[in-house]
Amino acid sequence: ENSPENSLSDSGVKVIVRMRPLKKADEEEGETIVQKMSNNSLAINGQTFTFDSVADTGATQLDMFQLVGAPLVENCLAGFNSSVFAYGQTGSGKTFTMWGPANALSSENLSGDQQGLTPRVFQRLFDRINEEQIKYTDKQLKYQCRCSFLEIREDMQTGVYVENLREEYVFTMKDVTQLLIKGLSNRRTGSTSINAESSRSHSVFTCVVESRCKSMADGMSSLKTSRINLVDLAGSERQKLTGTAGERLKEAGNINRSLSQLGNLINILAEISQTGKQRHIPYRDSRLTFLLQESLGGNAKLAMMCAISPAQSCKSETFSTLRFAQRAK
Ligand code: ADP
Ligand code: MG
Repeated sequence: ENSPENSLSDSGVKVIVRMRPLKKADEEEGETIVQKMSNNSLAINGQTFTFDSVADTGATQLDMFQLVGAPLVENCLAGFNSSVFAYGQTGSGKTFTMWGPANALSSENLSGDQQGLTPRVFQRLFDRINEEQIKYTDKQLKYQCRCSFLEIREDMQTGVYVENLREEYVFTMKDVTQLLIKGLSNRRTGSTSINAESSRSHSVFTCVVESRCKSMADGMSSLKTSRINLVDLAGSERQKLTGTAGERLKEAGNINRSLSQLGNLINILAEISQTGKQRHIPYRDSRLTFLLQESLGGNAKLAMMCAISPAQSCKSETFSTLRFAQRAK
């Protein structure tokens, strides 16, 4: 119980790499080109990379929750703002990790052992809130959670497009699921699948957790607020020049720029948390970081979940993701 709890709290930024299993189509090619070497290192082409944790194809959704989700909830209840970012090329397992299998999302069925990080985080959050509220009988402790689901697009005309920025109170898992489904169906494209457009937008699920504590002794109350951000980033793949015309190409460039600005910012935040030195934090460089700035600075806890595939066909994108992950450390 202790180690996952500590895995986010000692330093501000944690980098976790998750390697998905080969797809059926890739299995014919045979060998995987990435090997897990230890709990925090992997090897590709004779080169070793070290992170905070490496999860390979044997890691379950529950393992990912223990590693990333459980500490996030504890950090949030302890008053820290906490964010998880899923980074990686399209198809590498970002949405699977953050939410679960695609079919579970469209059928509103976010339970079962394939359930991803976000629903597990909310289940744990609601359980822990109930525990805390019961525990303090000498005070009146009341928690309230407000959630929003938004998408950030790198749009040709407007530069950036933000949708679904509406906060709603949530009390149960059902409320969370309904907010997600509503958010998805409000998409500009009318798409009902979180996967359909996800390679070109960042999806940000935010929960503001407020606790009001009233002391029975003196009647004084206090209010604490902390935020959880669960971010499924746009696909990190570099677009091939051939076959990508005009607007799409420019959009792809914007996505790559905003991802590298996020990496840059996380790199600076990690440095500040390690050295204690003050530095200018470039929140304004991208809309994503600007929107999240309230929850990224100070003593915020960040986890970068970098998703990779061990397939030969993904080699150059895998290298690029690992280099990004290395920089975030
Ligand atoms: P991304 O969001 O990065 O584009 P997805 O999460 O949609 O990728 O994953 C692509 C496909 O691979 C989906 O059908 C998903 O269910 C499956 N998949 C991804 N990671 C895993 C995993 N660790 N185990 C089993 N299936 C996975
Ligand atoms: Mg996705």
